[in-house]
Amino acid sequence: MRLDKFVCKSTALTRAEAISQIQQGRVSVNGAVEVSERTQVHENNRITLVGAQLTPRPFRYMLLHKPANTVCSNVDEAYPSLFNGSGIPDTEALHVAGRLDADTTGLVLITDDGRWSFEIIRPDRLCEKVYRVGLSRPIHAGVAERFATGLLLQGEAKPTQPAKLEIVNPREVLLTITEGRYHQVKRMFAAVGNRVRSLHRAQIGAVRLDVSEGQWRYLTPDEVRSFG
Ligand code: URA
Repeated sequence: MRLDKFVCKSTALTRAEAISQIQQGRVSVNGAVEVSERTQVHENNRITLVGAQLTPRPFRYMLLHKPANTVCSNVDEAYPSLFNGSGIPDTEALHVAGRLDADTTGLVLITDDGRWSFEIIRPDRLCEKVYRVGLSRPIHAGVAERFATGLLLQGEAKPTQPAKLEIVNPREVLLTITEGRYHQVKRMFAAVGNRVRSLHRAQIGAVRLDVSEGQWRYLTPDEVRSFG
């Protein structure tokens, strides 16, 4: 990882503060002063800040129940960041593994471990995501079969992977998909002449949402390993 990232992961410094310390010559890598924050370092390197050895904090893995009208980014945009007011400490280094639209609620996985989140979002892994979908029109017979076969989304040449549709009632369904294309669920229902009125993610892989809106918890070691 980059030297400034390592310093941030090992201290309470912000990225800007870490860069400043590095550029002032206060950081050494294996005994030699290093003034470029871009230098790549390894966790096994001996890295010191004004002589004190730095040890990176362990990675963090958590889930959050995303409220509506929040964005899955670290900074406020058209809506506030989902981290805003969550009470999660030190959010600067964290990111969401598989973003939701601002108006979508439900399960988001959060980490500072980029390799782990890549395992969740990489397309060939076919990680299952379960959505509860509210529809503006009653669901047509035959949609489950179209989703199971795969269908073309507007502007795309490759059909969707097989998806599973369970009907809760004519205007409410559970949809399990294994991809994460842009606005995928909304576009799948648009492709069959319907419209999503509400969207909630209930499950990713083996991890189910079990906290109330706005709440978060750390994942158990088994949950973390289930994506490894
Ligand atoms: N599909 C969508 O259309 N929106 C989301 O937020 C997630 C999946």
